[in-house]
Amino acid sequence: MNELLKKSALELADLLAAGTITSVELTQACLDRIHALNPRVNAFLFVDDDGALATAREIDERRANGEKLGRLAGVPVALKDNMVTRGMETTCGSKILKGWKPPYDATVTLKVREAGMPMVGKTNMDEFAMGSSTEHSAYGPTGNPWDLGRIPGGSGGGSAAAVGSFMVPLALGSDTGGSIRQPGAVTGTVGVKPTYGAVSRYGLVAMASSLDQIGPVARTVADAAALQEVVGGYDPHDSTSLNEPVAALEKIAVQAQAAGQSLAGTRIGVVDELQGEGYQKGVLDSFNESVAILEGLGAEIVHVSCPSFDYALAAYYLIMPAEASSNLARFDGMRYGIRVEPTDKRATAETVMAATREAGFGDEVKRRIILGTHVLSAGYYDAYYGSAQKVRTLVQRDFAAAFDKCDVLVSPTAPTTAFKFGDKIDDPMAMYLNDIATIPANLAGVPGLSLPSGVASEDGLPVGFQILAPAHEDARMYQIAGVLEAGIGEPIALGCPAGEWEEQA
Ligand code: GLN
Repeated sequence: MNELLKKSALELADLLAAGTITSVELTQACLDRIHALNPRVNAFLFVDDDGALATAREIDERRANGEKLGRLAGVPVALKDNMVTRGMETTCGSKILKGWKPPYDATVTLKVREAGMPMVGKTNMDEFAMGSSTEHSAYGPTGNPWDLGRIPGGSGGGSAAAVGSFMVPLALGSDTGGSIRQPGAVTGTVGVKPTYGAVSRYGLVAMASSLDQIGPVARTVADAAALQEVVGGYDPHDSTSLNEPVAALEKIAVQAQAAGQSLAGTRIGVVDELQGEGYQKGVLDSFNESVAILEGLGAEIVHVSCPSFDYALAAYYLIMPAEASSNLARFDGMRYGIRVEPTDKRATAETVMAATREAGFGDEVKRRIILGTHVLSAGYYDAYYGSAQKVRTLVQRDFAAAFDKCDVLVSPTAPTTAFKFGDKIDDPMAMYLNDIATIPANLAGVPGLSLPSGVASEDGLPVGFQILAPAHEDARMYQIAGVLEAGIGEPIALGCPAGEWEEQA
């Protein structure tokens, strides 16, 4: 492997700015690695060699002409395949959108282009972001670069595996219930769900609009911070976009790593409900070691109880399908993607819609549409959807009370390390439980970050440490994550054996 690929995005940005390397050289190295590994990893659904190299050449020229460029200009990036890219196939991991080329760019796509970041391709995902393993992708699962027989998390397993296997230094994901953070945890990468509204959702194919949030995937905290700065900020195209300036996240994350950083005066809340039963021993051990590191750096550790979190998963699996069933109604065989005519009936709007959806949607998507329409139906609305919304309010109140007592909350990101393919695919409940620790943040709209804290003693696989901050306080989350990352030492991501099985191949 080209040694450049192990460098962080910010190290690469420095080398580009100094003229030590060119973007063409770096982008080509990424593309070479993608073509070598992707047949086995399946992290990418689409690779855009020509487009990425054209951007790289343009950036190299502009830099040679002395133009002042953005911080990440020339650094390659990958996008999860639910962010629309003009003229480039966007499938959301679904057969129903096979061949669909969007007529416009998502706001994040535009921002990445404006930043001069070569976009190498679109990453694999569970169909319409529903799942925790990528096994629900219509295009086959993605392998975990730490062990190709295991899941890379989901739904954004493709972005996490691409970054974790050194195919690309940065990627974007979307997090509705944990789809950036849980893949980060099980692949040893950093995954961040910003405050709801901090990054525009315009052009993100909606799953559950009140929960969806785009965020960065990286190998270091500071890299993630730099990418959030590029894609974040107010967007008039998104009515839920926050109208506030983006903080200097990269600077905060970098400063946090300077020697001698102290967390004196910082109160860190360990959430009682997000550990214990159902959590793997090695996950809890790694979590406790990180808490001890934080305490060693001067933080005050507080134990907090958020009793409503016990009901967050149940509430999520009512609210999310309700919103998804409404959002997915647009896939009707008329407007986007495939269209299937019934063979046994006369083609009417209804029979074409039914035949298209039958052929185009996978089982998990159908399950959620049925569940969602059921909980929204007149007779059940109050019992299910209404109750879930009340739980959502209680979760928000638990967060508010906890943040009165502490500056951030912490927990393991996922209850276990990466499981094997096939282990949970036939048991939806077991699959849903992977997001037990990540879902509360989506219900409340608060930011959450997962960084690798180590590997579990029983299986040697990466463990994620989650930091949750109050809404609008993404900077605080990055700061504490930066201090902890430095305290842990060598980035866990660099220990990924992606190169070893590659050589055996
Ligand atoms: N795994 C969760 C689900 O299946 C979260 C998905 C997501 O965040 N997009 O709903």
